[in-house]
Amino acid sequence: MLMQCTWLSPRRWLNLQEYQSKKLMQESGVAVQRFYVADTASEALEAAKRLNAKEIVLKAQILAGGRGKGVFDSGLKGGVHLTKDPAVVGELANKMLGFNLTTKQTPKEGVKVKTVMVAEALDITRETYFAILMDRSCNGPVMVGSPQGGMDIEEVAASTPELIFKEAIDIFEGVRDDQALRMAANLGFKGALQRQAADQIKRLYDLFLKVDATQVEVNPLGETPEGQVVCFDAKINFDDNAEFRQKSVFAMDDMTEADPTEMAAAKWDLKYIGLDGNIACFVNGAGLAMATCDIIDLHGGKPANFLDLGGGVKEKQVYEAFKLLTADPKVEAILVNIFGGIVNCAIIANGITKACRELELKVPLVVRLEGKTLNQTASFLLGTSSLQRKNFMLMSI
Ligand code: ADP
Ligand code: MG
Repeated sequence: MLMQCTWLSPRRWLNLQEYQSKKLMQESGVAVQRFYVADTASEALEAAKRLNAKEIVLKAQILAGGRGKGVFDSGLKGGVHLTKDPAVVGELANKMLGFNLTTKQTPKEGVKVKTVMVAEALDITRETYFAILMDRSCNGPVMVGSPQGGMDIEEVAASTPELIFKEAIDIFEGVRDDQALRMAANLGFKGALQRQAADQIKRLYDLFLKVDATQVEVNPLGETPEGQVVCFDAKINFDDNAEFRQKSVFAMDDMTEADPTEMAAAKWDLKYIGLDGNIACFVNGAGLAMATCDIIDLHGGKPANFLDLGGGVKEKQVYEAFKLLTADPKVEAILVNIFGGIVNCAIIANGITKACRELELKVPLVVRLEGKTLNQTASFLLGTSSLQRKNFMLMSI
């Protein structure tokens, strides 16, 4: 992703596989190649035969880019393969399905491939990069494009930033013809191809609006020798706030790649993100959670997670949050940092004592509470025998 930033955010962003994004694109009249999806090698083989294409491309479906240059733990190199022989599709799918694919956007151990996409391959004479994203500095959507798209776009952006073109879109007006044509020209499309590319750009913008996307990224947006402009890859990010009116899109989220702890936390409406340190953070409010992570870091520690209880928290959630934290073998200490302005300290204290009574807390627990009902809560906590037997410390009162 060209303009990727690291989100340490307690939001669950909807992520779709490439084939799902391409289905949405097809529905908006965007040019994508014919494809089938397969979960087994024999289905992949069948799909390859059914396609009846001159050349076939087999693509591992994971929620990360850089697949072309990725490596499988089966030894197979490349998450994207081209072949003219359907039998080879079956053989390759065998080395993809059930194996982990590591790319520069995945964790080191990679991501298990459960689905492959079998698509009609087309010759590509030129690969360009095109994306539409919400950009705070433009107060709205912006188009970003480069005539040098393909698998090294990050490198292009770093070494030749003059080859990255931007065009802000007026949200009320939409993409104007002159803007679409200028972007198509900047992408290096000439003659009739320029009109075609401009048309694809406008359709992609329509899709961007229709599905409440925060980003639609096509890399490569390619040109074929037959004179077609085709979207060969697709990555769409969505605005979670639009879930209520994008039910069918959000229903496509199969959560198969989601972190099990994050999913368990989401069930209790807890905003949890696993990190790689050893100090568990139990905090209310995303700002305080960030600040707590920073403070831990500043003092040479490393947070094991980011857990935001939010406001309006109930005792049961406090208990469930503790359950999650204590189940994590990485956690060597728990730091509770609660601002009793948006929550009553007593709710937290009751949740903590219940958890300590019922769960076997083996690690030190440090609690800082500040705010509403602090005094009563503090004496309650200090007088709780289930806590006294533990390695417990109450701070800042
Ligand atoms: P990733 O971005 O994850 O590496 P892509 O879908 O962009 O995966 O595929 C990597 C490369 O494979 C593309 O840059 C393109 O060169 C080639 N490719 C992808 N799809 C096709 C296709 N349908 N026909 C021909 N080549 C393709
Ligand atoms: Mg790509």
